[in-house]
Amino acid sequence: MLESRLLEAHLAHCAECRSFAEQVTGIAAELRAAAVEHSSRRVVLPAAPARRSAPARVRSVASVAAVAAMALGIAMRAPLGDPERPSGPPAAAPAEVDDAELHAIRLLRREAMLAGLARSERASGTFGNQPA
Ligand SMILES: [Zn+2]
Repeated sequence: MLESRLLEAHLAHCAECRSFAEQVTGIAAELRAAAVEHSSRRVVLPAAPARRSAPARVRSVASVAAVAAMALGIAMRAPLGDPERPSGPPAAAPAEVDDAELHAIRLLRREAMLAGLARSERASGTFGNQPA
């Protein structure tokens, strides 16, 4: 796999990442070798998953919408071949493709803004670069 080869190449010349990788490998090996222990405390899991915070939900909805918009844009630019019309015109007019791309860009910008907002909320006390 390309990713693992890139990682190996990086680890070959980056001492910092190599030491981190060795650390993580060591911890994982320790955990695998450790005997199973029973907790003295009773653990009760909630019946329903905990509700996510409103910003997290907005972000995930925005991500899904952005991916859907991009997929739509790609599909419109390179439509699947129609076997009955092999040399037919593209399904979408250029203006429509541009609209879909603009929409995807707007969604991505919105998502980036929301992510930035969430970051500045987490860093309470500091106002970052957001106007007061
Ligand atoms: Zn590195």
